[in-house]
Amino acid sequence: MSRRLIKGGFVVSVDPRLGNLDDADVLIEDGKISAVGRNLSAADAEIIDAAHMIVMPGFVDTHRHIWQGAMRAVTADWSLLNYLGGIRMSAAACYRPEDMYAAQYQGALEAINAGVTTITDYCHNLNTPDHAHEAIRGLRDAGLRAIWNYGFNRPPLGDPAFKTQQERLQFARTLAAQYFVQRDAILTMGVAPEEAALWIDDDAGKAQFALARELAARLFWHCNCLNHGGGRPFEVARLHALGLLDHDIVLSHMRYTTPEEWRLVAEHGVAVAFTPDTELQMGMGYPSTIIARRHGIAHGYGADITSNNSADMFTPLRMALQTARAELNAPRDGELYDGVPITCDEALRWGTLEGARVLGLDHRIGSLTPGKDADIILLNTDSITLVGWDRSNPAGTIIQQASIADVDTVMIKGKVLKRHGVLLADVKRACRLLADAAEHIAREVAAKGGFYVDPQRTFQLMQAVTSARHVDAFRADYQEIAPTTT
Ligand SMILES: [Zn+2]
Repeated sequence: MSRRLIKGGFVVSVDPRLGNLDDADVLIEDGKISAVGRNLSAADAEIIDAAHMIVMPGFVDTHRHIWQGAMRAVTADWSLLNYLGGIRMSAAACYRPEDMYAAQYQGALEAINAGVTTITDYCHNLNTPDHAHEAIRGLRDAGLRAIWNYGFNRPPLGDPAFKTQQERLQFARTLAAQYFVQRDAILTMGVAPEEAALWIDDDAGKAQFALARELAARLFWHCNCLNHGGGRPFEVARLHALGLLDHDIVLSHMRYTTPEEWRLVAEHGVAVAFTPDTELQMGMGYPSTIIARRHGIAHGYGADITSNNSADMFTPLRMALQTARAELNAPRDGELYDGVPITCDEALRWGTLEGARVLGLDHRIGSLTPGKDADIILLNTDSITLVGWDRSNPAGTIIQQASIADVDTVMIKGKVLKRHGVLLADVKRACRLLADAAEHIAREVAAKGGFYVDPQRTFQLMQAVTSARHVDAFRADYQEIAPTTT
């Protein structure tokens, strides 16, 4: 039996029964947490000295597209329409299988480096079978815990490898049998159907949902992201009408969900995922944190696209907390009052145990509870940024003060992947592969006229992947409104 003892740290367990324990230990046996408490001893255990460290569960990201890391910050000043045209309908087609590997491998290491131990990887650029094999291989090589989503989206391609949806459905079954048989592995399978606006027809969408259920895979779906032309997309209602709404679905974004739809989400045990960076930037509104917590709906957060923003969870959690506080504070703007709504403790839970609940993994990860897998991170507080931290409120330090630079040690299922602030991986190789991929993609994109694609061209490209009827509806929805600059 392998034993590790994390010794003498400030343990933030996120387990309501254990709470926070100063000068405490965590014992790990065969990849699982076996005890949390003071003065634990284990004769043959490898000791990990946690003096001056916060010991906490690794972060859980419930919505991320790791493959986009090879286009770092390309979308930083873009709207959702720009993203749809420039990335999804255009640059995505420039990825070779080796670019998928590079982005997945580097992106998974980048997450681990930031203390993110679990990710929903919404992998929706599987243009050939090799793109999928390489995407999975990148995650496996890095050792990240992930629900890898078989994404049905695709950009327009000259000679697509998959000619029909039937072929894509069948290939998902092949991958499931090849890589995802062991259900308690750190890498499991999810399914990400196309957005409703891109369905050729209802039967095509229904078949993608049915596949997930056939494979007992969790479903991840972009939903009610936009206020189409002043109306509502009613996509939750649509799922409900088609008999597809169930507790195995995680819906992302959701700002334009009606009260009646929120009731359906709660009743069906559906979970939700919000991505403050992209939602605030791209016209998807404030994250619907307040509505989700009022309904008791499981809600998590994510970095979304690393072609836009950073890959950590400190940032989205802080943005989510502060925007939710701003919404609740608003009626009392300008008044002096006692206290603020929503604690840092709650925000820490969103990024750990609540995120695990969203993914249906809270029995296995999300808190330092004996019996759970040892997905644990150590934050070094003996540093110029965190020294003097307030021990009465460790979540305050984690959410409002800490950053990637403070992540000293990371382990997933007891395996140490970062130690003393350094990734235990071939980082040089990861960087070289990613740089090559980024260079290749940028060159191909430049030959097509650059990353930016104008709205009319975007609608033309969409014609190739969905029906003309849908594109006409999209065009009607997206009036070309200049953003307000003052
Ligand atoms: Zn997304």
